[in-house]
Amino acid sequence: MQESGQLKVYKFGGASVKDAAAIRNLARIVRAHGQPGPLAIVVSAMGKTTNALEELHRLAHAGHDYTAPLRVLVDFHEDVARELGLPADLLASLLAQLREQLAATQATDDFDRQYDQLVSFGELLATRIVAAALEARWLDCRPLIRTDATWREGRVDWAATTAALQAALPAGVLAQGGPFVTQGFVGGTADGLTTTLGREGSDFTAAILAYCLGAESVTIWKDVAGLLNADPKIFPNTVRYPEISYQETIEMAYYGASVIHPKTIKPLAVRGIPLLVKSFLDPAAEGTRIHDCRHALLVPAFIRKTDQCLISFESRELDFISEENLQVIFGALAQVRLKIRLMQNSAISFSVCTDFSAYRLEKLLALLRDQFTIHYNTDLVLYTIKNYDAESLRRLTAGRELLLEQRTRQTFQFVCRMEAQGLGNGGTEAR
Ligand code: ASP
Ligand code: MG
Repeated sequence: MQESGQLKVYKFGGASVKDAAAIRNLARIVRAHGQPGPLAIVVSAMGKTTNALEELHRLAHAGHDYTAPLRVLVDFHEDVARELGLPADLLASLLAQLREQLAATQATDDFDRQYDQLVSFGELLATRIVAAALEARWLDCRPLIRTDATWREGRVDWAATTAALQAALPAGVLAQGGPFVTQGFVGGTADGLTTTLGREGSDFTAAILAYCLGAESVTIWKDVAGLLNADPKIFPNTVRYPEISYQETIEMAYYGASVIHPKTIKPLAVRGIPLLVKSFLDPAAEGTRIHDCRHALLVPAFIRKTDQCLISFESRELDFISEENLQVIFGALAQVRLKIRLMQNSAISFSVCTDFSAYRLEKLLALLRDQFTIHYNTDLVLYTIKNYDAESLRRLTAGRELLLEQRTRQTFQFVCRMEAQGLGNGGTEAR
């Protein structure tokens, strides 16, 4: 009981707030599991709202008509608020700001900056609704989670963020007045512009709050039973890890396991704050405890990353891929912010697997076309098996053409074409 006064952080992702029923369920969890001590609740955009906002941004930026998808987004949020019996004007000012922001979005080179100003509305709207439904405090995190101006991937200024959070939420304030609700995924620059922390970044927000405010634990509420060795929507027969170390989790997230945002673990590990992954569908079940622990060799973990692109560069002079050439290629990849997930070189060519983005790829080609012959393939999948064994390797590679593969002692990775259909048993293709 001695820790009952310490802050806990709960994070609810898009699926846990996807409609009015889900938000009622969230409220039950907060009531049932809310401790006597203070509680911070981090909420993502509802359901697929972030994707919808990305599409709105794309349309507005291209100068296309976005009235219909905007209507859908507005109606969706207003309907949920109405269903929950919340005041009719709850979202009015945020929706007006959203419309203004859309009108201001134009075809300038500021694509990424405008993205952050717009796409952050998903979390602003969701938290307004959840805070009102819980009758909890609503906290605007934009002046508190301080980042630089790396749009869509704001880098946290830890000192400024700690100072701002502790000033806004001193222990006394935290202890009184019940839980507060704030936005995941969102931050702000020193001059008051909004930034985002990278897709699926709400987990990271929960870790930032926990780190800066000295929380006792973070709980991520998900639609799965805990941290599993594979995504059950893709692979059958998954296994839950009852506990797992920070290190293993960081590696899984790095390879693209969608269960936890990769930046989440480090701040928690530094402070020794445990991360609990639990199911919002079965809140009493054990879930997974991620903490500083030792465990026996884990069962193989399967990670599937879609929308990959394989780019290969050949020197126009047909000379060897040299350090100088690599420096130019890496420089360009960093400049257009394409992340390398896997790479390999041969005498005259160098290949990288990256997340696909038409916009960034186009910029890359423009930078390097004169110096290199560049080929690329899109619609690819990157598979990673962590802690692989002969059986898991055979099962996953059977019947697939591996366009690129790489193996270390613990990890096997390969790139192949996207399957036309879902996966059947054991990762082989369904027929
Ligand atoms: N809503 C954001 C996204 O979908 C952040 C998050 O869900 O964590 O990427
Ligand atoms: Mg989300």
